[in-house]
Amino acid sequence: FWEVSYNIAHLMQFIPVAIQAAAAVRHMEEMLDEPTPIADRPGAAELPRITDNIAFERVTFGYEGAERPVLDNLSLRLQAGKTIAIVGPSGSGKSTLLNLILRLYQPDEGRVTVDGVDVRKVTMDSLRQSMAVVFQDNMLFNMTIRENIRLGKEGATDAEVVAAAKKAEIHRYIMSLPDKYDTQVGERGDTLSGGQRQRLAIARAIVRDPAVLLLDEATSALDQTTEAAINKTLLKLARGRTMIFSTHRLASVVEMDEIIVISNGQAIERGSHKELLAKDGVYRKLWDDQTHGRHGSRNDDDDDEED
Ligand code: ADP
Ligand code: MG
Repeated sequence: FWEVSYNIAHLMQFIPVAIQAAAAVRHMEEMLDEPTPIADRPGAAELPRITDNIAFERVTFGYEGAERPVLDNLSLRLQAGKTIAIVGPSGSGKSTLLNLILRLYQPDEGRVTVDGVDVRKVTMDSLRQSMAVVFQDNMLFNMTIRENIRLGKEGATDAEVVAAAKKAEIHRYIMSLPDKYDTQVGERGDTLSGGQRQRLAIARAIVRDPAVLLLDEATSALDQTTEAAINKTLLKLARGRTMIFSTHRLASVVEMDEIIVISNGQAIERGSHKELLAKDGVYRKLWDDQTHGRHGSRNDDDDDEED
């Protein structure tokens, strides 16, 4: 994939940005349509560190050749400093929403704004400078743990790398390894468990000290215990940032400030876990399906519920 899709030497010059984009591209590897690199507009401005909301303003977006748009006239305000979950069934457009924030794709209609500015009017570099992304499957390179974390921020000092690992709660594990931060990570990261890989990816994201932390199914592939533990770490890391967390697993979102349910290109429900359960709508159905499993879906509203 690397060989066919990228000129690695070129990529390495822009690692902090490229790592994000490359991971996203790999993430979409199995998809038909890879994002076409989007160039800065002539005269694009430098976006200062993001401090305010991210907004979708009547955004319609569809992938090339698709019959129906993924997002259909979607308006959405993602409030700065909050932990926000984007939920919905597989294929509902959660990743697409994040891709548009990262400007891996651009709306067909409408606009995505950050701090009130159309993301098309700022440089890619400055936009992504304040952001970091963690995917379900993150690229670990065949180099040391230290170098893998440092990919998140060019020129990060050793102290910054260690601080990030501590925040990601992987420092103690790293220190238990014979070579500590100099431990060579295998090409596929097979010296590490799934949870440890994710924590390294989180350290790589957090070393950037991002104002906006995006997580796309970042804990969905883990066993429930590990998922819960890492989600707890993430909630701590979210303080002082905007965290946008896409997942199809609702157990992860119970403690988030706000949950947005995406379906058929629309944000159909939003609120806290409690509010959405009380609403007895789509979220409630998804929740019941996931918590009761195949053994007992709710029949009607008269069931006695204790929660
Ligand atoms: P989710 O993350 O909620 O599972 P996605 O945003 O990945 O949903 O996908 C939404 C829809 O767009 C799906 O129908 C999916 O098949 C389609 N899609 C996603 N990525 C691409 C792509 N790169 N090219 C073409 N279609 C895509
Ligand atoms: Mg997705």
